[in-house]
Formats: sequence, structure tokens, C-alpha cells
Amino acid sequence: MKRTNTLKLVPTEEQERRLLKLADNCSKMYNELNYKRRQSFFSGKFDWNTDELYHRYKGLIGSATAQQIIRKNNEAWKSYWALLKKLKQGKLEKKPRPPGYWKNRETGKRPLKILVRCDNYQLEDTVLKLPSKLKIKWKGTNRWNSGKQGRLEIIYDELSKRWYAYMPVEVEKPLPQPTGEEKAYVDLGVKVPIMAMVVGVNGDREVFGYKANSMLSDWWYWTHRIAEHQSCLKEVNNRHTSQQLKALYRKRQRRFRDWVKKMVSDFAHRCWRKGVSEIVCGDLRNIRESADFFHKSNSMIHNFWSVGYILRRIREKAEEYGIQVITVDERGTSSVCPRCGSKHVTRKEGRLFRCLNCGLEAHRDAVGCVNIGLAQGFLGEAINGAVACPSLPSLVET
Ligand SMILES: [Zn+2]
Repeated sequence: MKRTNTLKLVPTEEQERRLLKLADNCSKMYNELNYKRRQSFFSGKFDWNTDELYHRYKGLIGSATAQQIIRKNNEAWKSYWALLKKLKQGKLEKKPRPPGYWKNRETGKRPLKILVRCDNYQLEDTVLKLPSKLKIKWKGTNRWNSGKQGRLEIIYDELSKRWYAYMPVEVEKPLPQPTGEEKAYVDLGVKVPIMAMVVGVNGDREVFGYKANSMLSDWWYWTHRIAEHQSCLKEVNNRHTSQQLKALYRKRQRRFRDWVKKMVSDFAHRCWRKGVSEIVCGDLRNIRESADFFHKSNSMIHNFWSVGYILRRIREKAEEYGIQVITVDERGTSSVCPRCGSKHVTRKEGRLFRCLNCGLEAHRDAVGCVNIGLAQGFLGEAINGAVACPSLPSLVET
């Protein structure tokens, strides 16, 4: 499995000048190459040829790095072709866009980015050895230190004015294996980001989930701070953005992500302890529920509440435990009665679900994951006490 070490670089002034020059040339080359390819693409005759650019840039950034830039752009175009193919086969709804430039959307400037081939750098205890005898001090933890290292990316962060190196590692260390063959059916949402029903091979089932209350109020707190700062900017100097504003946005997102990480770690570990070997995720409740819950702030919440992010974390974390994750498209899972299949249900009173046909009462969020289990061929009596009253542990906040 692939993991990434994040290292903070501490270059001297002289080293920083070299990094700046190198990074600027890397971005320039990438954009020139991409421009050429876009032109050829729109003219209807795609041109993979890179000879001229390669020869022009290899003296400036080194031949190995020039190669990596080409390869990076090749990857972008290959995945674009793959998406086009999917579109033709009808497996994709939205038309993909051809690869874009390396560009900071807000400032319009080129980002400063350097690519280093996997065998062209060495990470030592305190220094990172790069080509052209560049030895830069670094800070952080070399967390994934066994396994094959991949292409290094060095990026200058405009906001913190710091250099970071991202080092991918193909980790080979032995991982825990699933201890059983249970399945977990998972419904993703906003107020309860993860609600799961674990079904044992013997039919035992347990429903549990995570409340997002504390995280949501934290998110609103930072949203409020952002709004305050925005109106202050506008009033005082009629501006729309500032470094401080960007820092606030980043802070809000980091806090959200940290919380999600913590929740997902806890979830994956619980699943593993219970012997889960497969997690089945339905991923649509989020969209509908956010529409109910967040009213006008809808579009805002969509940007922020990335169901993709939560799902990716679940996949990564589950992989560490040898647990497989599959996703299923489930529409309206929490608006159908899991006992009689009736759609004649109420979901209005708090978190209570009531079937007007058979009288079933259950926890609203639990109904979703039970229905996902039912749709996936998990048959039998799905309703028991666990569904009416699932356990919703709070995460320990730090
Ligand atoms: Zn019913």
C-alpha cells in the first residue's frame, strides 16, 4: 500500500534561491508541455513528442527531473484518455476536462514545484540529499521508513512560506489480517458521518455510529470567524482576501480533517476487532440530508463536506487492517421501512424513524445502514433492539 511522508524543509538562504529557480523552471516546463499538448489535442491530432522541450530544459533542471515532468504530464493525459473512454461506455456522467496547467487559481501564478526521480534522492536522519549536491535539512517524522520510495515532490507553500517534501512510500510491512468474515454495512451522513451495522456470520448484529455534534459546532465557530474577518476586510480596506483569511480557511479544513481521521481510525479498528473482512458503503444519504439540514448554506457545505474525503480515509485505514471496502449506490435508503418495505414513513421527529404501515420505530440513521445490508443480500430478520437504539459513542476530543 502507498503512504506518504511529509517533511518540512529548512533550506539555507542560498539553498532556497536554488530551490526557487529550480521549481520555477519545473513549473514552466510542465506548463509549456501541457500547452503544446492541449493545442495538439484541440487540433485533433495528439502529439506525444517531447524531444525539443526535453533538450531545452535538461540543462536547467537536470535530465532526470525533466523526464519526471514529462512522465507526470503523461500520467495526467493518460488518465484523461481513460476517463474519455469511460464516458463513451456510458460509465461516466460528467464530461472530463483535459489536464490543466500548474497554476494557483487565486493568484494565477505558477506554483513552485519540483519533481525528483525515486532513485535520485536520499533521506537521511537530518538531511535530504538531492541532485547537484543539494543537502537540505528537514523536520518531521519519517513515519513510513521501510519500503520502496517513489517520486519525491517538493512544493513551496505560499501561505506558510515554507517548503515541504512529499515522499511516497510503497509500504511492505506485514499488516494485520481480518480475524473473521463479518461484514459491516455503512451509511455516510452529515450529523452522523458514519453509521454502521456489523453482521456476524452467525447472524449477530450490532449497530453503532459517530455523532458529529462537537465537530460541527467547531466548524460553525470557524465559519463565523471567517465571516467576521471577511466583513472587516471589506469595510476597512475594501478587500476580499488576505493571508489571514486564507489561514482561517485552512485552519477550519484541517480541524475537520483531523476529526475525520480520528473517527475513521476508531471505526476501522473497531471493525477489525469485531472480525470484519468487508465494509460495504452506501454513499448518498449525505447529499440528501445535507439539503435538509443545512438549508441555505447548501453549496457551502457541499464544498466543505467532502464525502469523497471520508470515503478515501475509510479505504486507506481499512486497507491497513486488510479489510476490503466496496461502495454501493443506494438511493433513499433511510426513507424505506426495512421491515415491510413501505415508503409510508415519517422521519420528522428528531432522529426517530416510524413506519406508518407496520408501526416499526427505529433510529433514523440506523435504518440507512440496515437497508444497505438488505439490498446487498443480507436477508433474515434485520430488526432488533440494536436498530431502535444504536450506540453512538462520542469521540474523545483533544
Ligand atoms: Zn414497515
